[in-house]
Amino acid sequence: MSSLEKVQHSIDGTMKMLYRLSDGHCVETVALPFRKKYTLCLSSQVGCRFNCAFCLTGKQQFQRSLTSTEIIDQYLRAWHYLLEHKKTIATANIVFMGQGEPLDNFEAIKEGIIYFMQTDGIKLGPRQITVSTAGYLPGIKRFLELPPINLAISLHSAINEKRSQIMPINKKYPIGDIIDVVKNFPLAKKQYLAFEYLLIKNFNDQMDDANHLFTLIRELKSIVNIIPFNPYKGTEFIRPTQTEVEQFKQLLVRLRLRTMIRASRGHDIMAACGQLRSPSHQ
Ligand code: SF4
Repeated sequence: MSSLEKVQHSIDGTMKMLYRLSDGHCVETVALPFRKKYTLCLSSQVGCRFNCAFCLTGKQQFQRSLTSTEIIDQYLRAWHYLLEHKKTIATANIVFMGQGEPLDNFEAIKEGIIYFMQTDGIKLGPRQITVSTAGYLPGIKRFLELPPINLAISLHSAINEKRSQIMPINKKYPIGDIIDVVKNFPLAKKQYLAFEYLLIKNFNDQMDDANHLFTLIRELKSIVNIIPFNPYKGTEFIRPTQTEVEQFKQLLVRLRLRTMIRASRGHDIMAACGQLRSPSHQ
């Protein structure tokens, strides 16, 4: 069993929860307020094998995958905390976008998802659950074994060489191979494949980047979520200005790609995308 060791509060209402697992390792869960509910961003591993250049978790050595019980425990402890401190029990959504690559821990997240959807339990619908992947092809090939939940692919560049620079996993599983698999996934009427696009100033924010993105995904029923890079101490990457983010969005809109800008949340407590890094084993 794990214990909830610390909760940090952002000025925007986001909370970051630190859990200590029974073997001493730690993971973090983020609760993001959405209207009167919360989206819970769950972790799936202690550390991560994939070492994406922009991500603090990737700089933390991989220790192990979480068990399904530890995954469910993150939800239940966050639920109790919200009930006690915020007087709400409402969770809008679950996203597997915390520490680790969820599809590299397939059986455990599958058990967790089935638990979250139990009709005599938490009762989440499949569209309330999203799994995000950096492009772990063996897991993506098994994705349809899961209930019909949402899939988000961390893309960040549609140019192979550029993507490999910031996501070493792309050298083993190039993005074209991923697209070849996901293009056949069945989608419900209002369901889209999500492509997460971390926008980094002077790296992936030019017309050429937009054109490659269009070429890669134009035939897919998809949505691009632009996430302005969240800086942290020591990073070489630069966050674009709001104007630059809007300009890149307009490039995609003109190419008729469905596009959203994802607001950065919890930045002041290092809870935003790519900023999770739990203390090492003690
Ligand atoms: S972005 Fe995801 S896959 Fe990449 S290092 Fe971070 S946790 Fe791992």
